[in-house]
Amino acid sequence: MSETTTPGTRAFVIGHPIAHSRSPLIHGHWLDRYALSGSYEPVDVAPADLPGFFDAVRAGAWQGGNVTIPHKEQALALVDKADALATEIGAVNTIVVRNGQLYGSNTDRDGFLANLDQRAPGWDSAKGPAIVLGAGGAARAVIAALIGRGFAPVLVLNRTQSKAQNLAERFGAEAGGLDGFADLAGDARIVVNTIPAAADGALPVAGLERLRAGALVTDIVYVPLMTPILKQADAMGHPTVDGLGMLLHQAVPGFTAWFGRTPEVTGELRDLVIADMAKPATPDRADP
Ligand code: NAP
Repeated sequence: MSETTTPGTRAFVIGHPIAHSRSPLIHGHWLDRYALSGSYEPVDVAPADLPGFFDAVRAGAWQGGNVTIPHKEQALALVDKADALATEIGAVNTIVVRNGQLYGSNTDRDGFLANLDQRAPGWDSAKGPAIVLGAGGAARAVIAALIGRGFAPVLVLNRTQSKAQNLAERFGAEAGGLDGFADLAGDARIVVNTIPAAADGALPVAGLERLRAGALVTDIVYVPLMTPILKQADAMGHPTVDGLGMLLHQAVPGFTAWFGRTPEVTGELRDLVIADMAKPATPDRADP
């Protein structure tokens, strides 16, 4: 655990590993911009040490923080209270300490929505079928978001079909395999990829040519910024939105709760993170 002592509020981001998280860059930018005295520190916590870390948080070492891979699900079980959305999604990514108790929430759904609202205004005005590629941890927030905005059916396509089926049952969606994409693409209003770019060879992007004109293609993966599916959709003339904005927007509620100021997701912040991504290769991380 970090021994840094900084005046003002202390917030953490815990993961294992954590060194390449971009959340400290984002929160550090906001602390500087709003001239707040506080800190946001990456802490590498091994899974077995998570209960002990949370006890230290309860004892007053920190005022809250973010939780990333592999702790999001375990954090849900370990916090004192979780809000309804975190419980529905099955994962906590943001913790706020109040009176020695840990309150867990999940900001990924709203981060996903805020990104699309900002970069593709009106994206949800035409309702209809939505396709989600992948059924991992992050797909849950995406499915909840799309259902919440009235898309139906939400079709979850995954390599391991049983995982897609589990999520479909949990959220009231429909499930299938990745090979079903080409048959379903023609009706979709939006396609959301959640499969890491390193797996691009397995993506059913061949069916993209069946998408209707104007269908939005978005990715929550942001390394690289223009993922293979986004590049392909863009070349076909479809509107596309990359996943970086989701990372930036999901950070807003935590910062607001810990530091008392609602931060803005600006072009300057986006450029800062893009410049950081241009530095020597870092593995893709499920931030925060
Ligand atoms: P995860 O739980 O590990 O899920 C990964 C998904 O990708 C699973 O559905 C998996 O299918 C699929 N997959 C992996 N390799 C594959 C391959 N070779 N062929 C086909 N499918 C493959 O990961 P996650 O937490 O959902 O995160 C997914 C991505 O989203 C990561 O890149 C992460 O960085 C990004 N993310 C971004 C944000 C943001 O703020 N922008 C937030 C969260 C996550 P199986 O079930 O068959 O294994």
